[in-house]
Amino acid sequence: MASTQSAPKSLRIVVIGAGMAGILAATRLLEAGKHEFVVYEKADRVGGTWRENTYPGLTCDVPAHAYTYSFAPNPEWSSYLSPGAEIQRYFESVAEKYALDKFMQFGQEVTRCEWKNGRWELETAKGLKDTADVVIAATGVLHHPSTPDIPGLDTFAGACFHSAQWDHSVALDGKRVGIIGSGSTGVQIVSALAGRASKVIHIQRTPQWIMPTPNDPYTEEQKAAFRANPALIDEIRYNEAYTSAVRRFTEAIIDPDSSQMHEIEAIVQKNLEDSIKDPVLREKLRPNYRAACKRLIYSSDYYQKVQRPDVEVAIGGIKQIEPNGVRMADGSLQEVDVLVLATGFHADRFVRPMRLIGRDGADIDSRWSPSPSAYLGITVPGFPNFFMINGPTGPVGNFSLIDIAERQWGYIEHLLAALESGEARSVELKEETLRAYDERRIAAARKTIFGSGCNSWYLDATGVPASWPWSYDAFAEQTAKPRDEDYVCAA
Ligand code: NAP
Repeated sequence: MASTQSAPKSLRIVVIGAGMAGILAATRLLEAGKHEFVVYEKADRVGGTWRENTYPGLTCDVPAHAYTYSFAPNPEWSSYLSPGAEIQRYFESVAEKYALDKFMQFGQEVTRCEWKNGRWELETAKGLKDTADVVIAATGVLHHPSTPDIPGLDTFAGACFHSAQWDHSVALDGKRVGIIGSGSTGVQIVSALAGRASKVIHIQRTPQWIMPTPNDPYTEEQKAAFRANPALIDEIRYNEAYTSAVRRFTEAIIDPDSSQMHEIEAIVQKNLEDSIKDPVLREKLRPNYRAACKRLIYSSDYYQKVQRPDVEVAIGGIKQIEPNGVRMADGSLQEVDVLVLATGFHADRFVRPMRLIGRDGADIDSRWSPSPSAYLGITVPGFPNFFMINGPTGPVGNFSLIDIAERQWGYIEHLLAALESGEARSVELKEETLRAYDERRIAAARKTIFGSGCNSWYLDATGVPASWPWSYDAFAEQTAKPRDEDYVCAA
């Protein structure tokens, strides 16, 4: 943003959420010498999605050294893809390293955030009130579990819980466990429970394409080398193979007829043909939509695990849940002792259920009806000095959300600088900027592979893929710096 000669201003900043994005915001503010901020977190510790998801097999399918803050490399990752508990410890360690505790208020869920007289007024569920010049919403994407509306669910006699609310008091060894859902979560749980439960039944309404992926452990020698020479970590994070794979993947998403997409299709088809020996099971597991239409699933062992004698795949709709198990639409009963609902999340909530009221009474619920949007996933007209990390329409494909968040943070820093310089008391996205962005975005999104004819959490309430529909490089370029013409700066 253009600078003027006004007096510099110290901003009071409220960050909402202490997950990956909230920790990022807090550490970056501290590194920039800003101490006038607080992070409100509804839970009792940091971690966000990695705190809440503790299901067996939880693994990040982005390479560990790429799913790491650029400013906090971690030579200790145990394997190419890191387990969830390790990622949670990583975030805790970063929070400790920066002594973020003194900036964090745990057990404080922000329930109201309202722009009044040129400032944000906030209130938490416990009645705490605060004001701020700027609010950074780091509230996450997939954090409202979706419980399916299946008849009879409440009649099930055994333990039943959502994958994001895993009940670790329930014994699984020797039990028959049914897992409903074949997204990344369901697939990881099935792989982890195979051989541990007496029987695992994977209940799938829709089979998935599976991308084979290696997941080798790092040896002690490798870790020692990473410790001694952090450049080796950068080599993995920024190496040509990984970055060109990300580039190839985004090119494939945005152009379903591209050679890159045909390459992905060939790999997942070959994986199915080569891995599943029984032709009946192979056909059961064959999706009837294009690869990457739903979020592509990365797994090194799912196809091996489903061929075990103690694992069964039940494909098709569910008629109802009964005390003893799951009655499928074809009339068969899948008898289970424990039922896991790996049925995903309400992906359109973002900062909600917080009541967010902007300038002149603008209400985010109305603004985002029927579907949410934010410019570059960061700003919304009518909501001055309110900046989101990983907000609606940002890139949520199969690559590092940390990288995306860092890019968005870089953009937000420019907006903060404009406010701190005294050049403006508020910065607000122009209505016409979002309108033009949405027009282009929706037209492009319909042409992506996500819009090629399948159901997924990528689709908004109008059936349009809500994810960034352009290249990774375009995102990097457009988030490099805000354009003056996109914002109204009020003095
Ligand atoms: P998801 O991808 O939304 O999958 C939900 C599953 O539940 C689908 O298979 C869906 O079937 C099924 N389902 C929903 N309602 C149902 C019903 N009434 N009856 C039968 N089946 C029903 O959710 P997720 O697996 O939790 O994954 C969500 C996202 O979290 C992922 O896409 C990914 O972005 C992230 N994630 C990432 C990792 C990682 O390794 N990085 C791991 C786990 C999750 P249909 O397909 O038929 O709708």
